[in-house]
Amino acid sequence: MPEWRAQRNERARLQLERARPDVFPAPVLVHSLTQSWTPALPRLAVESYWRAHPLRADRLARGLAARSGAPEGWSWRLSRDEETRPTSFRLPPAPYREARWDRGPGFCCLCGQMVFRFGWHRDLWQAGAPNTRARWHAACVMAWKLWNAPGEHLRLLSRLQRRRCAVTGKRLLRSAEADHRVPLFSVWRDQRDRPWPELLTFWGFPNLQAINESAHRAKTVLEAKSRAVERSSSAASSRAGRRGDPEPEPRRAGAWLPGSGFADTAPE
Ligand SMILES: [Zn+2]
Repeated sequence: MPEWRAQRNERARLQLERARPDVFPAPVLVHSLTQSWTPALPRLAVESYWRAHPLRADRLARGLAARSGAPEGWSWRLSRDEETRPTSFRLPPAPYREARWDRGPGFCCLCGQMVFRFGWHRDLWQAGAPNTRARWHAACVMAWKLWNAPGEHLRLLSRLQRRRCAVTGKRLLRSAEADHRVPLFSVWRDQRDRPWPELLTFWGFPNLQAINESAHRAKTVLEAKSRAVERSSSAASSRAGRRGDPEPEPRRAGAWLPGSGFADTAPE
């Protein structure tokens, strides 16, 4: 490490030591002191920790959501109005982000659990009340970003798969892409009534894989054919007087993203 950076990191370390409370998540502190760029503020240290641990963030966010469960009367439905509900089945269902089920300040709008200092998920400070200025756990921000942009975690997926394509078993090329093992359209079509947050597993690491571009293209073509067959048999059923699939068309996959001031993610 160059001398100037070592000096800068030492200044940041002293600043972090002064700014942090005596009680501070130990893994975050250890992580901060081993980074190329030491974060100077406790909040930045927590964000840096979760950016470096998307697997943990994914598991934790789903675990916290399991504690909350789905609100009474909620079901996964799409809407044309992105303010109230997700507009596409590609977006993870998140009931507590919907205006009707919002739990208010101090509660995470993703998992529905209380948020404490620095966006932490446990009350290490025994405050007995949430931080009412917070609307997200730092871990849930990371999980949400992963669920919406899994392609940014290709390096990690590749490492988990020992650099082999999950479909062909061949060496993963630099042009490899992230893919959902169970495609999201089929989650919406066949599994939409599964309980929340179990549904979120389809957006998390358990359903993600890195595959080579050519294998991805072939998989996509097969999936499109299967959907076309489904649609034509559904249309035939409707003509025969049976009820068709009421699936609304997805509108904009980029909507429904968190409006937080957290920094962009860096692949692990
Ligand atoms: Zn949360």
